[in-house]
Amino acid sequence: MFQSEMTINGAQHDAPARFDVRNPANGKVIGSAPNATRTELDLAVAAAGAAFASWSQKSDDELQAVCVAVAAKLAEHAEELAHILTLEQGKPLNGFGSRWEMGGAQAWAAHTAALSLPSRILQDDSAGRVELHRRPLGVVGSITPWNFPVMIAIWHILPALRTGNTVVIKPSPSTPLATLRMVQILNDVLPPGVLNVVTGDDGTINLGKLMSEHPKISKIVFTGSTPTGRRVMQSSAETMKRLTLELGGNDAAIVLPDADPRLIAEGLFWGAFMNNGQTCAAIKRLYVHEAIHDAVCDALVAYAKTVTVGDGMDEGSALGPVQNRMQFDKLSALIEDAKDRGCVLLGGVPGEGLFYPPTIIAGLKNGDALVNEEQFGPALPIISYKNVDEAIAAANDSPNGLGGSIWTANIEQGRKLAARLECGSVWINKHGAIQPNVPFGGHKQSGFGVEFGEEGLAEYTELQAVFS
Ligand code: NAD
Repeated sequence: MFQSEMTINGAQHDAPARFDVRNPANGKVIGSAPNATRTELDLAVAAAGAAFASWSQKSDDELQAVCVAVAAKLAEHAEELAHILTLEQGKPLNGFGSRWEMGGAQAWAAHTAALSLPSRILQDDSAGRVELHRRPLGVVGSITPWNFPVMIAIWHILPALRTGNTVVIKPSPSTPLATLRMVQILNDVLPPGVLNVVTGDDGTINLGKLMSEHPKISKIVFTGSTPTGRRVMQSSAETMKRLTLELGGNDAAIVLPDADPRLIAEGLFWGAFMNNGQTCAAIKRLYVHEAIHDAVCDALVAYAKTVTVGDGMDEGSALGPVQNRMQFDKLSALIEDAKDRGCVLLGGVPGEGLFYPPTIIAGLKNGDALVNEEQFGPALPIISYKNVDEAIAAANDSPNGLGGSIWTANIEQGRKLAARLECGSVWINKHGAIQPNVPFGGHKQSGFGVEFGEEGLAEYTELQAVFS
């Protein structure tokens, strides 16, 4: 049983009460986490505020060296953290599961450590000198979701620390354990107070809301659903916090008539079902040209039948259960509605506990709930189209704009169509392939601001011009 505590000012800290954490594969309690109150949050914010005074004054080389040490610590504890992650999140150890997530976390940490934002001299002449600097913001509040708890935490923490900010992170109540342990481990190489963690069950006290309102937090970096992102904006308005909001997606993939169904089936499957569909930038609507619609459906179903669903701790599982009851119920309701409107090609019937088999439903259209809403689970609606203009218009007919993809034998044609998609990332013949050197973020109601690369790093700083 994991009885993890919070790390505040470099020390382990409990709360007056605790809440249970369950393994979604079998419903068993695997441990508990502190149910923090405003008191513990204030302590964490005060510790981060105090640590900021010296951390923000460190040289660029010093900050970089500590971030390199953070990446090394992650590598040292990767297997331990992967096991906690699988037990609390449900994703398999293998495939695109916990070990893959730990690999991503290390890659992002190492890449972010190596980035820098040098000052610039805008003018240096007889009239004077003007330097442009990037200054850290102060205490950054990080709020993370349950789908990639460790990797998303690293996406928030590393650029914040690298640019001289200090951090208070709050994981999702569904997956607090890996984050608690990771922050404890990373504190081995960080000065006290630079990285703190608080956890809560989102019951009578909502720590995320308190963080968004907190007068001593300068920025919130939030990854989660669009409705909660709106609440973060509302709560943070009074203090005019800087915000990065990575929100929900309802990504469309468009298969052109020249694509080879057998060649693209595997990529389409993992583009949609990676992490059991619980991925922000996953294919959540598949538009297929009528000429190859049936062949794509057949190839996709044939590939899906080769994928093993099971307990994530079983080394042979490629997909695990849905992470939590609320998400399972939402997914089930969307599938039930879609069953009445379309044709179930695979799955469609819930399994034991929180298991839901990969479900593929054809014959749907824009306006159907499974097409319009983010299912965030293992269900893929397929929509047949007649011409590409119609497909592009249907893909853009969404308040979300995170990612999109074009599947075609003609890459140039794919690149041209990319310009017509209203979203932050467009992939050709793949979907969801993100990189630590490429800015990632949403258009429209999928959020604002970007993560990754120099552009992502800059979001943790404010510009300051110095005239002399
Ligand atoms: P969620 O919005 O329910 O919760 C996210 C976090 O917000 C949790 O830590 C939660 O405790 C906290 N929270 C709850 N109420 C809050 C409030 N009033 N103020 C501040 N914080 C509050 O999201 P989830 O269900 O954990 O994650 C799934 C969603 O996240 C999906 O919509 C998915 O698309 C999105 N997501 C987006 C990205 C991206 O990069 N765009 C990445 C991963 C997940």
